[in-house]
Amino acid sequence: MNERRYLLRTFGCQMNEHDSERIAGLLTADGYVSTEDASDASVVVFNTCAIRENADNRLYGNLGHLRPLKQKNPRMRIVVAGCLAQKDGGTIQQRAPWVDVVIGTHALPGLLDLLHRAETGGPQMDVSEVTEVFPSALPALRGVSHHAWVSIAVGCDNACTFCIVPLVRGPQRSRSIGDVLAEVQGLARRGVVEITLLGQNVNTFGRDLTVPGSPRKPLFAELLRAVNEVEDLRRIRFTSPHPHDFTPDVIDAMAESDKVCEHIHFPLQSGSDRVLKAMQRSYRRERYLEWLERIRAAIPGIAVSTDIIVGFPGETGDDFGETLDLVRRARFDQAYTFQYSPRPGTRAATMEDQVPKPVVQERFDRLVALQEAIALEGMRAQVGSTAEVLVEGTGRKGRTQGRTRTNRLVHLDGEHAPGTFLDARIVAAHPHHLDGELVRETVAVG
Ligand code: SF4
Repeated sequence: MNERRYLLRTFGCQMNEHDSERIAGLLTADGYVSTEDASDASVVVFNTCAIRENADNRLYGNLGHLRPLKQKNPRMRIVVAGCLAQKDGGTIQQRAPWVDVVIGTHALPGLLDLLHRAETGGPQMDVSEVTEVFPSALPALRGVSHHAWVSIAVGCDNACTFCIVPLVRGPQRSRSIGDVLAEVQGLARRGVVEITLLGQNVNTFGRDLTVPGSPRKPLFAELLRAVNEVEDLRRIRFTSPHPHDFTPDVIDAMAESDKVCEHIHFPLQSGSDRVLKAMQRSYRRERYLEWLERIRAAIPGIAVSTDIIVGFPGETGDDFGETLDLVRRARFDQAYTFQYSPRPGTRAATMEDQVPKPVVQERFDRLVALQEAIALEGMRAQVGSTAEVLVEGTGRKGRTQGRTRTNRLVHLDGEHAPGTFLDARIVAAHPHHLDGELVRETVAVG
């Protein structure tokens, strides 16, 4: 049999996961099947991320490993996609001339065309800077059938000094509410019960659009309410809101829309106003805490997760103390903590006063210890309650794992198909997951 196979490796954030679903969808529509074996693949795609540390070294390492395979099988096509492709473009072709296609974040719809052109025309590159077609409008091949990412906007109009996104994804471009709804309705008809609306800054959704026949702009709150009406959909999540652009109507829409889950990812980055200013994050600590209070008052029991960067250039011991203080006051249920390291191409990378690595490490360890203790207290408070769990699959120890509406991970015995809803009594707490016992399956799949 002469099947064409593709191997796809994804690095980075949900936006890249979302793009990879589209890459897989395009290749599948063209007759390729997936493989995990590079020596068996006719196309190898690296969907890269420019945010992680040493992303380029890792990419060139991976490309180096593929080189002998390509020499043995010159018909193998190697594709570099994603943020690093967008940022580095021609450099990738210079450093790894055996790469056949370099395709940026805006050019995904042209992937098959570029692959075909590479057959006869040699290495191809498209790192154009304008999104003509939303990635969500392309065919998708999803790893799971009950959950889907739905892009509502691409790009970002902010300029946080540590972030490469505005450079590689461009200014924000929103999709129309009608377009998003049509996709969500189609997904729900195909059995998707949970969606995550995806944008770099969901609160500014619609700022670049107008409502047909009206001078006003569509709002994120409006989108949430509209998606809440989609039949057969059970859960709505979104990521990420920006504390600066948060508005009361979003809190109202969350509180009033029964499918919107009781969880919010609310990126803090630092608890020091001085550092927030240097990061060009245009909110301040008291305002952040105020929003948190309003959100919690309107949506009782809501779980809050956040992102925190430790050791941003110029961060003093006092600044870090402010972060610890805010973490104590905010009582996050979960925090993604990062040690700052410069990302080439960002403003922060050229700032003076980079904090020495051992200092960053020491602060980071203190923050993680504090946050783990707070998270564990929050998890312990769940013991004895009963929660709705949506099964995701089987975890490491062969136990079923799923998530509550508050995004807490629950492990429990017994086999339950992914996509099944069940009620679980929470019997034990750990910093990152809960143990549950089955009360009953509420909606089974299959
Ligand atoms: S809001 Fe800031 S951190 Fe988020 S994508 Fe935009 S520039 Fe990056």
